[in-house]
Amino acid sequence: MSEKNQRVVVVTGGSRGIGRCICKAMAAPGTRIFFNYFSPADPEGEKAAAAETIAQVGQLGCEALGLWANVAVQAEVTAFFDQVMDAAGRVDVLVNNAGITRDGLIARMKEADWDAVLNVNLKGPFLCTQVAARIMAKQHGGRIINISSIVGAIGNIGQANYVAAKAGLIGLTKTTAKEYASRNVTVNAVAPGFIDTDMTANLPEKVKTLMLASIPMARMGQPEEVAAVVGFLASDAAAYMTGQVLHVNGGMFM
Ligand code: NAP
Repeated sequence: MSEKNQRVVVVTGGSRGIGRCICKAMAAPGTRIFFNYFSPADPEGEKAAAAETIAQVGQLGCEALGLWANVAVQAEVTAFFDQVMDAAGRVDVLVNNAGITRDGLIARMKEADWDAVLNVNLKGPFLCTQVAARIMAKQHGGRIINISSIVGAIGNIGQANYVAAKAGLIGLTKTTAKEYASRNVTVNAVAPGFIDTDMTANLPEKVKTLMLASIPMARMGQPEEVAAVVGFLASDAAAYMTGQVLHVNGGMFM
């Protein structure tokens, strides 16, 4: 297949959770999937997790490549996209999914926790968007999908850093949408509610019970249910949508 007939999808944070499901949702004949991951705390565990994503995408008949890169560091983002361009020559879809939490009440939040969350969850999407949008503009087309959060719209006690980043990501989505609409690059956000992944696995039972009580559908969402909406935004069916935020939250916010 020639490079031009390939569809190249880039997903940040594809080794686990929602990112892995997005990689799988994008798997289709003629699509090549590149994802990154970053875990200084457990490099071996993350290599295994990345290998699992590659294997699961492979079972769907699609090629995936996982590369180590911290989205919060410009040089690593540049090197990551250079590897994608060397291997595939184009970028059709970017999903800014990588994210972390460092929760704490404002009164006690450490500066380092504020910086870490803003750097990964907001600066990371900016850095990836800057590189990918330039490539997409040259191609006269592309899709950027940012994974925000319900809390970016409604706030959340103990998550000032995360909420600020996710609300900021909605602003980044709308601005990128306006700047690149004339180049046929659409930019939208998906705002998940309470989703069953590693990110929510360690929440105290009390918090989980309170969260569940606030969901009209009375259950957590599955990462596949978020990935399906990302798949829609990346599809031809969503060609005329840009600057929008799609909420996937079981009715938690309406
Ligand atoms: P997760 O299971 O913790 O996975 C996070 C992914 O991001 C991992 O692949 C992780 O890789 C990667 N990552 C973290 N820091 C990175 C960095 N600096 N550079 C590159 N990759 C990095 O989280 P999730 O629940 O799937 O969340 C995915 C996205 O959805 C996040 O943006 C999150 O904020 C958002 N979201 C989640 C929920 C929820 O309830 N789960 C709700 C709303 C929004 P490593 O493990 O290698 O670090």
